[in-house]
Amino acid sequence: MKFAIQSRGDSTSNEICTKIKNYLTEFNLELNEETPDLVISVGGDGTLLEAFHTYVHRLKHTAFIGIHTGHLGFYADWQPKELEKLIIEIARTPFQVVEYPLLEIKIIPNDGEKEHRFLALNESSVKTPEGSVVFDVEIKGEHFETFRGDGLCISTPSGSTAYNKALGGAIIHPSLEAIQITEMASINNRVFRTVGSPLILPKHHTCILRPLNERSFLITVDHITKEYKDVKTIECRVAKEKVKFARFRPFPFWKRVHDSFIDDNQA
Ligand code: NAD
Repeated sequence: MKFAIQSRGDSTSNEICTKIKNYLTEFNLELNEETPDLVISVGGDGTLLEAFHTYVHRLKHTAFIGIHTGHLGFYADWQPKELEKLIIEIARTPFQVVEYPLLEIKIIPNDGEKEHRFLALNESSVKTPEGSVVFDVEIKGEHFETFRGDGLCISTPSGSTAYNKALGGAIIHPSLEAIQITEMASINNRVFRTVGSPLILPKHHTCILRPLNERSFLITVDHITKEYKDVKTIECRVAKEKVKFARFRPFPFWKRVHDSFIDDNQA
């Protein structure tokens, strides 16, 4: 089995990475950063998001696991004190995996240039560098509303506990193949009207955002933010690809929600 390691880069995370490398190579596992079967992220959820984007081109073949060196993470749910147990489990390959749905986002430029396609593990958000965004929101081929406000966040089920939650979105179990659209400060008055509630879309229901005047947007894909000019449309749907997480012990999703938000004595 081939493995790769992604560190947050601080001294604690780097030390743990060195230990993992040494132990796993002693167990005859191969360190291979090009084509790993397992990517071990050491740091926090942000480190796992980085690892995901580094290996997003090989989701079919690569599973992820996260160790947290700060507070308990959603993806980084192994503690440094469990390291030896984890290493023995990894060395015992094959391992079980769970698969979570992803968001596909396509940014289509106005000038006929090639579209930009991304997969998000947590979410994509659409804002403007200045003022408010105004776009028609189309769902499954039908006009739904004209949105005016700070922006929209489109999240995956596993990302529903991140930015989406801060925006008042629901927490969705990752066994549901869905995406969630949450509003950021929509303007609602006699002229502008939006539904006001988060929307949960099933697989195969595409949401298209069609800008009405301003065409420059700040679009985030997980931890990455970029400005796109002259945008024609932004398409969002449940991706056909999924992410795999290696599971070496049960840690049910609702327990992770509980331990992260209600009672953190695990961290
Ligand atoms: P960061 O350093 O600002 O950390 C954001 C926090 O979000 C960390 O505490 C991290 O543990 C947590 N987090 C990340 N993914 C999570 C998940 N799926 N469930 C629960 N908590 C999660 O930024 P970063 O580490 O680069 O992470 C980028 C993420 O930050 C984005 O994907 C977005 O979800 C989140 N974010 C949150 C807010 C907010 O809550 N107001 C605002 C912007 C971005």
